[in-house]
Amino acid sequence: MQPFEYNPNPGRVVFGSGSIKKLPDEIKRLNKSKPLLLSTPQQADQVKALEPILKDGSIAPAGLFSEATMHTPTHVTEKALQYTRECGADCVVSFGGGSTIGLGKAISIRTGLEHVCVPTTYAGSEMTPILGETAEGRKTTKSDPKILPGTVIYDVDFTMTLPEGLSATSGVNAIAHAVEALYARNTNPVINLMALEGTKALAESLPIIVNKPHDVDARSKAQYGAWLCGMCLGSVGMSLHHKLCHTLGGSFNLPHAETHTIVLPHAIAYNSPKIPETMQRLADVLPESHGDAIRGLNVLLTKLKVKRGLKEYGMKEEDVDKAADIAVSNPYWNPREIEKEPLRETIRRCWAGEEAK
Ligand code: NAD
Repeated sequence: MQPFEYNPNPGRVVFGSGSIKKLPDEIKRLNKSKPLLLSTPQQADQVKALEPILKDGSIAPAGLFSEATMHTPTHVTEKALQYTRECGADCVVSFGGGSTIGLGKAISIRTGLEHVCVPTTYAGSEMTPILGETAEGRKTTKSDPKILPGTVIYDVDFTMTLPEGLSATSGVNAIAHAVEALYARNTNPVINLMALEGTKALAESLPIIVNKPHDVDARSKAQYGAWLCGMCLGSVGMSLHHKLCHTLGGSFNLPHAETHTIVLPHAIAYNSPKIPETMQRLADVLPESHGDAIRGLNVLLTKLKVKRGLKEYGMKEEDVDKAADIAVSNPYWNPREIEKEPLRETIRRCWAGEEAK
């Protein structure tokens, strides 16, 4: 066995249908009593369901801020911080996907307030000490153990409304964390277990969700998989796939989960000559792979009925060269050397929507 280091991230997880009823106790457990609730405008009605639950547990929310938005812009954070001070909140509860949890992290790291997450997508931000923020059109990412939320309530009931399309792409976004964790330079056997179990749970449940979005068992299994994959993202380093998605999303304004979904089989195909063991282990947990992980991913994406080309989200053909230039300009570790020409071809395939090989 290879030597390794393992740093488990601290954090409490409460999992299961109806577990939101434990929110008041979780807040009291932190010795807090005045939570600020956060959501996007789209989930402003849904987050109000927390108010009667808190009242039943003798907790009165300090306020509700429903302006969370993609890429955690700092001007929204500033507005939320002012509101946090005015309403006298002593903790934050972020209810939603990566965008809302990003705002919760941004407030928590600036104020020191405890952060409780109620995730409603599969993106996994709640399990990471990472925060991406946008100021003056530039997105920067920082990592700090203090950014990691302290308590996470995974209540499947709030994922039932996640539209089929976003469920599919958000789930593949989660699988991407696990796949890159398998071949991370600082990976370890514990993270490998989580990565394989998380990938299997999502690959089995997502096709069911796309056809039967209200299947509670499939939704629970997907959320369990997303939790494990989120832990992978929060524990070890990511490489080509995540860096490329960051470049494409940031430079060409492409949607987060959809971009991850399109790029994943291509990024893995690029790395495949250098990661034969990972390819085999992945193939073992992907249904209908017949021993070929790329085939398994292609089958999964076909079943999920997702868009396969970045051009379908507005990326122009001339952007392929620009993306390749940007992608090679910032060196980082990857199992296969980052070479401009083969990478340009990978990006072209993602743009065109060709099947990965
Ligand atoms: P999101 O949070 O942007 O949500 C997308 C849309 O779906 C929003 O309008 C949201 O309100 C809505 N939505 C979410 N859950 C819903 C539900 N259950 N029912 C109905 N509508 C629902 O999407 P996301 O993919 O979860 O997060 C993407 C963002 O998170 C990106 O900015 C990404 O960079 C960030 N992210 C960060 C990390 C990290 O570790 N820092 C990890 C993953 C993602």
